[in-house]
Amino acid sequence: MKKLLPTSTAGSLPKPSWLAEPETLWSPWKLQEPALTEGKQDALRVSLQDQLHTGIDIVSDGEQTRQHFVTTFIEHLNGVDFEQRKTVKIRDRYDASVPTVVGAVSRQKPVFVEDAKFLRQQTKQPIKWALPGPMTMIDTLYDDHYQSREQLAWEFAKILNQEAKDLEAAGVDIIQFDEPSFNVFFDEVNDWGIACLERAIEGLTCQTVVHICYGYGIKANTDWKKTLGTEWRQYEEVFPKLQQSNIDIISLECHNSHVPLELLELIRGKKVMVGAIDVASNTIETPEEVADTLRKALHFVDAENLYPCTNCGMGPLPREIATAKLHALTAGAAIVRKELSA
Ligand SMILES: [Zn+2]
Repeated sequence: MKKLLPTSTAGSLPKPSWLAEPETLWSPWKLQEPALTEGKQDALRVSLQDQLHTGIDIVSDGEQTRQHFVTTFIEHLNGVDFEQRKTVKIRDRYDASVPTVVGAVSRQKPVFVEDAKFLRQQTKQPIKWALPGPMTMIDTLYDDHYQSREQLAWEFAKILNQEAKDLEAAGVDIIQFDEPSFNVFFDEVNDWGIACLERAIEGLTCQTVVHICYGYGIKANTDWKKTLGTEWRQYEEVFPKLQQSNIDIISLECHNSHVPLELLELIRGKKVMVGAIDVASNTIETPEEVADTLRKALHFVDAENLYPCTNCGMGPLPREIATAKLHALTAGAAIVRKELSA
């Protein structure tokens, strides 16, 4: 029998302090090749052990081999010049210095496939692998070549599809696309964002996820959240079309956020990764708080479709806090699982 409420994390987990500066986005590596490759693999093993030890069911690499969830993937592509930098507004929210698209984009060779094979060798648990979504990729670049957000996103979708097929062949069970941009550019999401995502998953037989969150707990994001009012209804704009899409699972922020959970009714029938752990706070949730979020979600998500998860990646959190939050997630899911089977 399939386990009810299988737990997972949305993405990144903290890196060991010997590999990269803790609690820092885009943290530079502390090792040089060839020690760096070995160090990344060791960190992946440690991150996996943390997940297994805390009872997480669907495990990941904790994004130990990448510096950033978008940039690292783009670094491996042709057509993007990392020396030519421009300042652009990311997510319509904060300025960042980003690389420039100077020519046709393409993938020279698989980006994460060796890492995924390595993870696959370490565990028999189901594994999930995160990739950036096409719209979030274009939002982290200055485009001096296509001069069309839609066209560039479409080109990235084709590249992501190649990578996703290779990851599937490497034994990845669930492929996730991170699309925080879906919470910002609603018209584009509905016009072509979801279509690009469907292009990225074309021909896959494994499960697919789109992760839509309100971001890491960095200041630009927490300041933005303060402007959103008491009810966060962003999901309402994109859920109807996502419900109709081929994406299997939708990963969302729920705990401690102002998202009215009744919006989940709009994606009834889809599997939902329910964020029951706040990644913008160092306060460790109690198992009962996790259980409470899951119980509320169960009003709108059928039990067999509910996947307890974190709101977003926990990469920027102190390590011991992230591990404690994994424990809380497992314990909270266990409470509800018991109630469901009673
Ligand atoms: Zn996220």
